[in-house]
Amino acid sequence: MYTYNIAVIGGGAAGVIAAIRASEFNKNIILIEKNASIGVKILLTGAGRCNITNIADIETFVEKFRNQGKFLRTAFHRFSNQALMDFFESKGLKLKSERQGRVFPSTDNARSVIETLQKCLKESEIDILYNSTLLNIIKKDDLFEMALPNSEKVYAKKVIFATGGVSYPETGSTGDGLRIANRLGHAIIPLKAALVPLRTKEAWVNDLKGIALENIRIVFLIDGKKITSDVGELMFTHFGVSGPLVLDLSGKVVEFLSKKKEVKLIIDLKPGLDTAKLEIRLLRDVESMGTAKLLTVMEGLLPKRMARVFLRVANVNPDREANQVTRNERHIIMRMLKAFPLTIEAPLSMKHGMVTNGGISTEEINPRTMESKVISGLYFAGEIIDGAAPSGGYNLQQAFSTGFLAGEEAAKCVR
Ligand SMILES: Cc1cc2nc3c(=O)[nH]c(=O)nc-3n(C[C@H](O)[C@H](O)[C@H](O)COP(=O)(O)OP(=O)(O)OC[C@H]3O[C@@H](n4cnc5c(N)ncnc54)[C@H](O)[C@@H]3O)c2cc1C
Repeated sequence: MYTYNIAVIGGGAAGVIAAIRASEFNKNIILIEKNASIGVKILLTGAGRCNITNIADIETFVEKFRNQGKFLRTAFHRFSNQALMDFFESKGLKLKSERQGRVFPSTDNARSVIETLQKCLKESEIDILYNSTLLNIIKKDDLFEMALPNSEKVYAKKVIFATGGVSYPETGSTGDGLRIANRLGHAIIPLKAALVPLRTKEAWVNDLKGIALENIRIVFLIDGKKITSDVGELMFTHFGVSGPLVLDLSGKVVEFLSKKKEVKLIIDLKPGLDTAKLEIRLLRDVESMGTAKLLTVMEGLLPKRMARVFLRVANVNPDREANQVTRNERHIIMRMLKAFPLTIEAPLSMKHGMVTNGGISTEEINPRTMESKVISGLYFAGEIIDGAAPSGGYNLQQAFSTGFLAGEEAAKCVR
């Protein structure tokens, strides 16, 4: 019976770096991946450009993961964003940072990240089993027995679970590792989509689909109280709202939606103008446009396609002559420009989330080693672990940092 020192399950960011790091201490490592290639999800990241990490300091990374940040501190220190960038640069992949500190490969192509990782795997002489799905795992004495399809078995002294969450299941992340770990006795924090588009009650958003609003402020409210707010870019879709701003704030919104609360979304379409300035601008516009239609005035203030929908929602006649617009109508328009209202019904389903929140409870993982507190010799890395951060490269860094730490610690402990 052949026994590997370490088996890594899952060839995403976390699993690949875990295998590479482990191989620096120890040979005789196997990587088991259900797809025909590593990093299928990496290809989708950063809209195909892969936002690998962020130049923020480590404390910012910790904060981004909110309640789970403290758990990740050791991993972020052990393999920091700088160490990750140095790693890729030392392997010949040039990087660049963009707005909000987001780091991308200079190629602007996620494939170059995968090619770099593939090269490292090859140099590390790691055995790779592609198209192999781990079905189950049992621990007998100090050995893990892993069941693969066709009654195939693989044995290893240490196992690293890096099978991801349940978002975008077509990439291979279907929650297998969570189910298997649960059978082994691990508690699973209920799964929720993070960074997820939101469905609105108002079906008329369909008329706005494809419109992107830049530099607007959004506020999510419950019973009139703000729960979260920020400035950025929102995109209308046929079902509701998406875009970086919505995705980043969605975690908080999902939390409240799951408590069956009604969440209002208010869009300030003109955050740069206070009400007084907006009133002057609107008055000037309607007066100077004379007999032109109000719709034409609004087309100067909003994306063209949005103007008609806006007036319909405001219940103001778009064909009224600009100089006939009443004071009351002007006030309605102004109120709507500062607080365009929508009602959030639900997040899209978990599989449409960019990241899965929830997963293996961090209470049951040693933060210094990533080893399970339930089953010795079993380690976790990446998105399978509870917690999620907003967009900006933080989630991939979490996968790389925890993978690196798990790989190193598992390898050091092999006897
Ligand atoms: C559209 C999209 C865009 C994103 N953009 C960014 C971004 O720009 N920056 C960022 O930081 N984060 C981004 N993320 C999040 C980021 O991709 C994830 O946080 C990260 O890839 C998680 O890595 P992982 O290795 O833990 O899991 P995964 O990448 O999900 O890898 C898990 C691997 O395990 C394999 N596997 C699963 N079950 C089994 C099994 N039973 N047997 C064998 N293999 C198995 C899967 O096939 C998969 O290859 C994005 C996510 C999505 C969906």
